Amino acid sequence: MADGSRPLPHSSPLFSNLSYVHPSPTSPWGTYLAQVDRVVPYIGELARWAETLRRPKRTLIVDVPLELDNGDIAHFEGFRVQHSLSRGPGKGGVRYHPDVTLEEVMALAAWMTVKNAAVNLPYGGAKGGIRVDPKMLSRKELERITRRYTSEIGVIIGPQQDIPAPDVNTNPQIMAWMMDTYSMNVGATATGVVTGKPLNLGGSLGRVKATGHGVFVTGREAMRRLKIPLEGARVSIQGFGNVGAPAAELFARSGAKIVAVQDHGGTLYNPGGFDVNALTAHVEQFGTVAGFTGGEAIGSEDFWSVQTDVLIPAALEGQITEARAARLTAKLVLEAANGPTVPVADDILAERGIVVLPDVICNSGGVIVSYFEWVQDFSSFFWSEEEVNQRLDKIITGALGHIWDTAERHKISLRTGAFVVACGRILTARAERGLYP
Ligand code: NAD
Repeated sequence: MADGSRPLPHSSPLFSNLSYVHPSPTSPWGTYLAQVDRVVPYIGELARWAETLRRPKRTLIVDVPLELDNGDIAHFEGFRVQHSLSRGPGKGGVRYHPDVTLEEVMALAAWMTVKNAAVNLPYGGAKGGIRVDPKMLSRKELERITRRYTSEIGVIIGPQQDIPAPDVNTNPQIMAWMMDTYSMNVGATATGVVTGKPLNLGGSLGRVKATGHGVFVTGREAMRRLKIPLEGARVSIQGFGNVGAPAAELFARSGAKIVAVQDHGGTLYNPGGFDVNALTAHVEQFGTVAGFTGGEAIGSEDFWSVQTDVLIPAALEGQITEARAARLTAKLVLEAANGPTVPVADDILAERGIVVLPDVICNSGGVIVSYFEWVQDFSSFFWSEEEVNQRLDKIITGALGHIWDTAERHKISLRTGAFVVACGRILTARAERGLYP
């Protein structure tokens, strides 16, 4: 299913037309543009509208001033990008990380547009972030920066406009502060303005583990189709947070062995398989896998060449580089993170017969249950966890089957297959709505 012969973004005549970003072929926005270039030959007359995919509808940059506990005033850059609103309100997470940039948020917003359309949710795509290391802030500082950021982006978010959610380094408590701030500003409790909230404030059962659950369900289905037995399968995971830890737990519970884990603090290897519950307890206590004694510490680059059947990147984008793609031993890559594979690495993996289940379907469990949360908030009627998981499994496996069939029909990668399905929906909506005026 290789389609690596498609041009890379810098060969597009319209590339770098936006004055405010300067992407490279391996940066997040450059990666996204290459993915769009690859889909255009398969979307027929809708290609007329394809340029709308290469331009975010709206980008907002805000200054977030913060009074530190010691009385100093610090300033941080905040972003909210609404990539597309053609199919419904914006939807996508908020990331707190010292490396956040406008370009990264643009790419993450665009991938949300594609993801929401790939699984047919009635949303456009958006994303936000603050360029901050939250580990340097006290809890009170974290609350103040969250509230100021929410007020600053309050001009474009709302239950019908754009609905943030957790992403890297954000969590239900931060969503509660965002919901409260927005509600104070509009003068009414607006639970539907964010998802991923605590249960007590209109959150949904099943949301916390939904992304990891979806990674497991789509991974199990891909393994079935590729005839990779789940029982005894070796699985390595980069990132042991909101997404990686629940995915590891579900794979281990189903008989797979988690043989390697890596996070920001260290890399561990255990060919016999980790005790995932003990590892999770260690990470809850110390904030990192480093120091866990149930495995051997190895060098961070060695992570990419350990003997494994399934690799799950569940940390940050751009991790599977050209050099690492050449060394992977896995038969299947489950993209739990957003944008973990750069385009040139995609081509190498395709040549090597390694199947990549793309982020836009693999990690869509989180936004699917966020959608359920939003629906439940509107109706003020809440579902059981079993109901949530059943509906999630139905939507995600149905979408995966449709994408798999599309990829086989066109003899293209699963990623381009997912983009064909998604961009068809996005651009049909765009064409049907027409341009205003
Ligand atoms: P998180 O903050 O809970 O966890 C991130 C993990 O990555 C941590 O274990 C951290 O130590 C690790 N990490 C950070 N930098 C690293 C580095 N340089 N090398 C190795 N490991 C590193 O974040 P999360 O919510 O689990 O998100 C992880 C990925 O999944 C992101 O790409 C995010 O966009 C994506 N995602 C998250 C959700 C969600 O519901 N949270 C949904 C869809 C996609």
